[in-house]
Amino acid sequence: MAIELRLRETTGPPQSPRRTRPSIAPDWIAPAHGPTLPDGGAAGELRLAAVELRDVSKHWGKTAAVDRVSFTAQAGNLVALLGPSGCGKSTTLRLIAGLEAADAGTITIADRHVTNLRPSARGVSMVFQSYALFPHLSVAENIMFGLRVRRVGRADRKARLTRAAEILGLQQLLDRKPSQLSGGQQQRVALGRAIVAETPVCLMDEPLSNLDAQLRLEMRREIRALQRRLGITMLYVTHDQVEAMTMADQVVLMRSGAIEQDAPPAELYERPATIFAARFVGTPPMNVLPAAPVGAAYSAALASAPPGRRATDLAIGVRPEDVRLAPQGLPGAVMALEYLGADTLIESRIHDDVLVIRVPGKVQADTGDIIHMTWEPGRTHWFELSTGHRVESQA
Ligand code: ADP
Ligand code: MG
Repeated sequence: MAIELRLRETTGPPQSPRRTRPSIAPDWIAPAHGPTLPDGGAAGELRLAAVELRDVSKHWGKTAAVDRVSFTAQAGNLVALLGPSGCGKSTTLRLIAGLEAADAGTITIADRHVTNLRPSARGVSMVFQSYALFPHLSVAENIMFGLRVRRVGRADRKARLTRAAEILGLQQLLDRKPSQLSGGQQQRVALGRAIVAETPVCLMDEPLSNLDAQLRLEMRREIRALQRRLGITMLYVTHDQVEAMTMADQVVLMRSGAIEQDAPPAELYERPATIFAARFVGTPPMNVLPAAPVGAAYSAALASAPPGRRATDLAIGVRPEDVRLAPQGLPGAVMALEYLGADTLIESRIHDDVLVIRVPGKVQADTGDIIHMTWEPGRTHWFELSTGHRVESQA
């Protein structure tokens, strides 16, 4: 116990300034055999647990960091909380973990109200962006730290460590210190902590943002595979739309503390609910232009317009990859060409707006050339200019 106290006071990694409660482990981890969940599953064995938020709010002064947020993460799913910096993703995750207290609303985990429970009673583990490993402890000790604090027996600890090390490929590194590991290996140790906790819900806050692109790609796959294999419910915070789209079963897109859209990745791409959602997902982003000037230059573009609406009230959206070059179509003056190998991005000017398209292969064109562009009417997205909301066309 004395050692733990010393760790806490002097040698632990710096605590996040936002943390409002002291925590015993740098990566705060719930007791492995923690609260008995309603289904009464055996201790240590993963139980399926859905996570549900209803009208959850959190204010900092007058700012609503989280504003009446409601969503359900189905048991065994990976749910990405996606959005730009400052939109409330981390706060939402910390509310679920119990590291912050909600001002309003309810949070349910495995059908149990946890809104007012302390973090350790909620049956969740959490991995932060900073790995926050203890520098003077070995990999094995770092992984098992939370278990020892929770008084999990020695044999059980060892069994879980062996299993986690095997899953994460850390067997050869267990005696090393964090300083002797690469960034990716350190990240795995942080993941190892969450795995040995064997909680049915795992929360991850931008766990890969410190890694280089190649490693990020590998870790994305590993985390996803692991989540599937263990059947855990994972809430995964990221500002990277590619990460969310490639990993998640469900994407909760946030903006200014509120949910912009909550949908599976394919639906977010195919039927974005707002202009913001349309432009946040996909690279390059969807072109969204006022419909009137586009219609004036190329009347066929309005063919699929929603009935009973004036072009002046609408914005027209079309993804760069849905547009092709044609002898006739929307005329644009080429401003820039970007050859990417498999395809080329062409940026052209239409009146006061810019349209970016992605066409296969290499394109013979020069800046100033006039090109003509066309797309399937069914690939057009319509939005109300005043609200930014999607409007369904009849097509
Ligand atoms: P994200 O994780 O999406 O980048 P955060 O949840 O960290 O966003 O923050 C949401 C908003 O709440 C931001 O405006 C942020 O500045 C503010 N915020 C977060 N934590 C605190 C805090 N402890 N005190 C005051 N403001 C905070
Ligand atoms: Mg954050």
